[in-house]
Amino acid sequence: MSDQPAIQKPLPEPDDASRPFWDGAAAGRLMLMRCNSCRTWRLPSRMHCDRCLSTDVGWEQASGRGTVRTFGIMHQRYHPGFANDLPYNVSIVELDEGPRLPTNLVGVSNADIKVGMKVVVDWERHADVTLPKFRPA
Ligand SMILES: [Zn+2]
Repeated sequence: MSDQPAIQKPLPEPDDASRPFWDGAAAGRLMLMRCNSCRTWRLPSRMHCDRCLSTDVGWEQASGRGTVRTFGIMHQRYHPGFANDLPYNVSIVELDEGPRLPTNLVGVSNADIKVGMKVVVDWERHADVTLPKFRPA
């Protein structure tokens, strides 16, 4: 007997602009856009740099390390695919490179999550996409 909800969670669908991020995730590498002019990292991916407006950009592997900046605990079922996860956390991790990534923390109870805790990326694999989650470092 499966405890899978009848309706699955919605998952990201990679497009041309985000494909290097998702291809990296599938290979266990956190890939971010980085400005080739001023070297500023950026997330989400976009065509120009917010700091220097350059459109000269590449993709580089980030460390996968970061710090919890804020989080919330979801007690309300907003989508049927999340019914078995309640209560679950939605957390903002500030990567060591600077950008902030909305994610979920794993390997820690909701009661033990603290702002300022150091975390490291942990991959959640699905059939067509791999999601970056974070666990205590
Ligand atoms: Zn720049």
